[in-house]
Amino acid sequence: MSMKKKVLSISLSGLMAFGAVTAVGLPVGAVGNGPNVGGSIQTSILHTYESMVDYLKVQEAKQKALELEVIGQTVKGRDIYMAKYISNPENPTILFLTQQHGNEQLTTEGALEFIKHLGTGKTKGVLDHVNILVIPMLNADGAMGDVNFSLDDYLADGDRHLTRYNADGIDINREHDKATGDMVPEARVLHENVFQKYDIDYMIDLHHQGTRSATDGELVSGSILYPTNPNVDPDVLEGSKKLGSIVYNTLEPTGWGHIGKYVGGTGANIGRNGAALRYDISTLLFEMRGMSDHSYESYALGQKSNGYLIKQTIKTLDSTVRAIADGSIETADTSFWDTLPEQRNSPAEE
Ligand SMILES: [Zn+2]
Repeated sequence: MSMKKKVLSISLSGLMAFGAVTAVGLPVGAVGNGPNVGGSIQTSILHTYESMVDYLKVQEAKQKALELEVIGQTVKGRDIYMAKYISNPENPTILFLTQQHGNEQLTTEGALEFIKHLGTGKTKGVLDHVNILVIPMLNADGAMGDVNFSLDDYLADGDRHLTRYNADGIDINREHDKATGDMVPEARVLHENVFQKYDIDYMIDLHHQGTRSATDGELVSGSILYPTNPNVDPDVLEGSKKLGSIVYNTLEPTGWGHIGKYVGGTGANIGRNGAALRYDISTLLFEMRGMSDHSYESYALGQKSNGYLIKQTIKTLDSTVRAIADGSIETADTSFWDTLPEQRNSPAEE
């Protein structure tokens, strides 16, 4: 790919130490054909917007390498935070984006855990060789259910509902082909203050889908896809496939991770395609199983599955950061994409 920066050599010992990621409680048999919807739909265990901000500020105070940036505001005026680890602007840079869709929050929970891990002191060898940007809750209004339309038919217990859309009912992940001045605020600040301001080489756009998607008769823990717009630069596409290779080869052997190929559109309005087209960012869509809340029963996933889905996020972020830092992503084998089965019964949209 047209890598804008050189990957520096790195000591392997630092990376190996970083590999010891703390496991989130992992119920045996949590994935596969276990309890389908997985218990009651609870949002009380999730970070609120406010508790997430508090968490980030605590980590910023603890971690010398971490700097928080407010990239802009939501429709309702919430500050949108980005966590930054930039040791050397010449290093390759990866962006992890969560919650374009407000009802897809376990990826955010995983991203917050990952940020904590980056402060454990085992990561120095990694952070010296890769820059990391994390936007852990782009659609904070939707995540808090603070929107200008009714969520009365949503399923989660308790006072808080989470919805896909921004406060004005717009799908942020269909804005990415517009002139930035015509975008909703959450998408505009992502483009103007992140995509256009930072020299980003890779992005993983983290989502959740419905609960019933499967390949080979087995429910998937998630599905992945590279940019599929035909006008994406071939080198950018190849980088995307390599990013997917790291994720696939990390999760599939775990026994609890089962990864399919997502069936997604070619539209430039989708982040996966738009960021690749407009900014030559190698992108990967990751659609994990089950949403945190929805009006439609087969989309929402109960809390019994929280542990492995959070762990799946942490392993995804951890493995890709390490592969970029040590340069091994450059030689990642992309041939698995040729045989990776497309998932079936995938009612939710990326
Ligand atoms: Zn989504």
